[in-house]
Amino acid sequence: MADYEIPRPEPKEIDEKNWLQLKDLLERATLKGHPYQGNEKCGNCLYYLNTDDEISYCWHQQLRILVGFEWWCQWWEAIPED
Ligand code: SF4
Repeated sequence: MADYEIPRPEPKEIDEKNWLQLKDLLERATLKGHPYQGNEKCGNCLYYLNTDDEISYCWHQQLRILVGFEWWCQWWEAIPED
C-alpha cells in the first residue's frame, strides 16, 4: 500500500469536447490574446462588460464568453463617447 501513487490529473472527454467547441468559436471570432490595430482590445470594447476587471464577460451575441482585458477579436467596437 505504501507504493500507491496518486494518478496525475488528465483531461477528460468533456474537456476535449469543450476545447473543440471553444476552438471553433475562437477561430470564427479570430480571437487574439493581445491588442490589435493600435489600441483595439477587449478592455476598450463596447461588448466588454466591466472595464475595471482584467477578465470580464463579452456580451457580443456571437461570443458570450469570458475574455481578457488585453484580448481582441474581429467584432471589436468602440465605446460611444456619449
Ligand atoms: S467583441 Fe471581441 S473585442 Fe469586444 S469584448 Fe468581445 S471578444 Fe473582446
